[in-house]
Amino acid sequence: MSAPALHDLTLAQASAQLASGQTTSEALTRHALARIDAHAHLGAFLHIDTDGALSAARAADARRAAGQALGALDGLPIAHKDIFVTQGQPTTAASKILTGYQSPFDATVVAKLKAAGAVSVGKLNCDEFAMGGSNENSAYGVARNPWDTQRIPGGSSGASAVAVAARLVGATTGTDTGGSIRQPAALTGITGIKPTYGRCSRYGMIAFASSLDQAGPMARNAEDCALLLQAMSGFDERDATSAQQAVPDWVGSLKAPRAGATAAQPLAGLRVGVPKEFFGAGVSADVLEATRAALAQLQQLGATLVDVSLPRTELSIPVYYIIAPAEASSNLSRFDGVKFGHRAKQYGDLADMYRKTRAEGFGPEVKRRIMIGTYVLSHGYYDAYYLQAQKLRRMIADDFQAAFKACDVIAGPVAPTVARPIGSQTDPVAEYLADIFTLPASLAGLPGMSVPAGLGDHGLPVGLQLIGNYWQEGALLHTAHAFQQATDWHQRAPQGLS
Ligand code: GLN
Repeated sequence: MSAPALHDLTLAQASAQLASGQTTSEALTRHALARIDAHAHLGAFLHIDTDGALSAARAADARRAAGQALGALDGLPIAHKDIFVTQGQPTTAASKILTGYQSPFDATVVAKLKAAGAVSVGKLNCDEFAMGGSNENSAYGVARNPWDTQRIPGGSSGASAVAVAARLVGATTGTDTGGSIRQPAALTGITGIKPTYGRCSRYGMIAFASSLDQAGPMARNAEDCALLLQAMSGFDERDATSAQQAVPDWVGSLKAPRAGATAAQPLAGLRVGVPKEFFGAGVSADVLEATRAALAQLQQLGATLVDVSLPRTELSIPVYYIIAPAEASSNLSRFDGVKFGHRAKQYGDLADMYRKTRAEGFGPEVKRRIMIGTYVLSHGYYDAYYLQAQKLRRMIADDFQAAFKACDVIAGPVAPTVARPIGSQTDPVAEYLADIFTLPASLAGLPGMSVPAGLGDHGLPVGLQLIGNYWQEGALLHTAHAFQQATDWHQRAPQGLS
């Protein structure tokens, strides 16, 4: 058998090749840059930092040559969603309003990955300000699903998923406010995890809905996600909601067997909760079939399936689409033409400058959310909408705690269908409804993961969602890893991809 091409290596494999001297960071980085160039039609990158990446790669090779003890990510090319601010590279949040903006500092997540030696090759397309689930809301064009370039890759971290699925880089960062890591991971056949709210610092992550936003890794498999998450996590005093939680050794614990596990039954003793509300009307037959097959596979690996109920699943849609726009309307008020990015060329007084700058700078979906958010927070409507949504949000979180009395992880679909064609959805409400299975964990602040679980209609990927209790990312990664030892869905590459 011939050796796999450099772009087919997982992070763990590429790391082993660096350690054994089979390849260099510069070779990996040059290969990634050439591949990004060759696949420019996918629309994945908003900025490519050729010089910065090559000099970081050479520095990594020099550290290795000097015999320094290096972490597993040292010298590996990655890329960041363009929602993280980066010192040496532009940051736009895929919005025109940030055209020309350059941050004076790195986001904590970016700084941590840099400190771990990872080589950032550039910034990835996404939905404007992470608002959307298709990448169609980017001001800089769509990103295309490598499984079928006429289809969406999902969103908002759409290009973070494209870059991994098309094997442009081994891993990327994403953010998830209501599903934006899990849903694009599912639609492109890769693995992604949104950790518990508070696990990764939000410092330098351009805010959409601050009580929901979380960073997380997107990669080919659970092991690579663990490698990245390990480096991204940890308390940060510059984020007021960052949690004082020790970061466990996720990478090491993937290999540690569960108590009572055997080689054939690595998941013996694991109770997997199956919420009936995740298997009802609206889920397409192909997604149901792949999800059920994945559950059966977990059972074969020794897990026990238990029925649980998340009775307010449907309500998570109105609750999220009140709370997230409310927070967004406040967060986005800082983009007014004074400090950051775009300013209208012609205006009368100051108010006119704000008005024109914002009218020109924001896209239609962002404007819609600012208007919804301003409305639900306004005097006379606050109690009817925002306050009610906050109360229901707490009840949704309580429902999860009731479910976790009977199970260790919860499993179900990520998205109700496989990736749809670009341009095929013009009704925003219908688009919001498709977030039904990712919103509940976001509202509760729980960790959630998407694991490749099969191919549905048109041969397109389907993801299995795993949801854990607070700080139980380890249980998700371990379950996903065991599943991936027994299945090869995560190894399927898009057909026709050169
Ligand atoms: N699709 C959801 C939305 O449009 C989630 C986005 C996200 O998680 N950033 O808000």
